[in-house]
Amino acid sequence: MRLSGYFLPTLKETPSDAQIASHRLMLRAGMIRQSSAGIYSWLPLGFRVLKRIEQIVREEQNAIGCHEMLMPTIQPADLWRESGRYDAYGPEMLRISDRHQRDMLYGPTNEEQITEIFRSAVRSYRHLPKLLYHIQWKFRDEVRPRFGVMRGREFLMKDAYSFDADKASARRSYNKMFVSYLRTFERLGLKAIPMRAESGPIGGDMSHEFLILADTGESEIAYHRDFLDMSLAERQIDFEGDLQPIVDDFTAQYAATDVERDPEAEKALGDALITGRGIEVGHIFFFGTKYSKSMDAGVSGPDGDEVFVEMGSYGIGVSRLVGAIIEACHDEAGIVWPESVAPFKVGLINLKVDDPDCSAACEQLYGSLGSNGVDVLYDDRSERPGVKFADMDLIGLPWQVVVGPRGLKAGVVELKSRKTGEKQEVGLESVLSMLST
Ligand code: ATP
Ligand code: MG
Repeated sequence: MRLSGYFLPTLKETPSDAQIASHRLMLRAGMIRQSSAGIYSWLPLGFRVLKRIEQIVREEQNAIGCHEMLMPTIQPADLWRESGRYDAYGPEMLRISDRHQRDMLYGPTNEEQITEIFRSAVRSYRHLPKLLYHIQWKFRDEVRPRFGVMRGREFLMKDAYSFDADKASARRSYNKMFVSYLRTFERLGLKAIPMRAESGPIGGDMSHEFLILADTGESEIAYHRDFLDMSLAERQIDFEGDLQPIVDDFTAQYAATDVERDPEAEKALGDALITGRGIEVGHIFFFGTKYSKSMDAGVSGPDGDEVFVEMGSYGIGVSRLVGAIIEACHDEAGIVWPESVAPFKVGLINLKVDDPDCSAACEQLYGSLGSNGVDVLYDDRSERPGVKFADMDLIGLPWQVVVGPRGLKAGVVELKSRKTGEKQEVGLESVLSMLST
């Protein structure tokens, strides 16, 4: 992408209404613009990151045999009357009516809708288990929308739903999601800790929230320090095999949020206890037959008797993750994207666009990197070097390649790692091969 033709409205001033780093940086880096409280437009740079995150989430859901679909944002109120949640949900639900005065709502979540689809299609335990998900906008009229996309009113969520014939099978579905979440957050470059959580309005008994550590997080958290060194790393995972040992590893130690915290258990941990704040990026629940009973979603069991399906739901805050990743990955100068979600891998800076040699070298690099499948943002604007450096640091691409007349005479360009700040002089050929891996 050539920056001269791109739409990247960066801001020099720090927006005064943004209270936390990620919100400030997303506005300054031209990623989002507010439309109204808690509702945002995603500008091209922000949109690229959102799509990258979405894709990683998608790949990891697909990997466990969860099938993608798409349900609408607008739902009929009658479905929610069946489950009893139309009245129970309260003012967070945006209620609307169509031209025929039929009550509709903008979905805050999709349990009712998926249960309705399921019950009309599946009749026998032989077709279970089933895992389904979609990545769709939600609306919750939050009392206090704040921190930019972190607590929005309109936000993008991946929500998955599991259907099983019995509890043992439901446990296996839950475990698949649990491990898939560990993988997803690791790929996103995050340290996310699964914590015992309150099951909230959805009810039920098996529930974990995945939190990333951040001082600006809204949840109070407490956990065993062992979590800091835990990761799936290169562990080979067979999703059709027994995942319980992995889940046990990641739930053996104490970790809890807010009201689930247990003062006794915390006291017993002594020095091993860490307390702080975190951002909830995912939440998995098992809620059994709560919806299948109220909405009459049954299948015939092995002995011919009708059984209500055991269900779970599994959310990831896709748009919240953009902010959460920035909270975890930034410095004084701006964002520092993990490579897996960076909007471009390389920022190519032409220090002197009116110098034919500089421009020729940049064009050549831009072309060859592009044909090697590397996403490059080429700063071909006639701006001062200082402006270019500052913008490039602000938007946080993992690699910067700086091409100037002096270096070119010696046949080299400067390669800078945004994360470490380390700079090295490299020949044109080697920079190409170094960045093409
Ligand atoms: P919270 O406790 O933060 O209000 P929740 O527990 O109500 O969230 P869930 O119903 O578990 O949210 O939704 C699944 C995921 O969607 C959450 O883990 C979070 O990452 C994301 N999410 C929820 N509410 C918002 C919001 N208002 N803005 C952005 N993301 C959200
Ligand atoms: Mg939650």
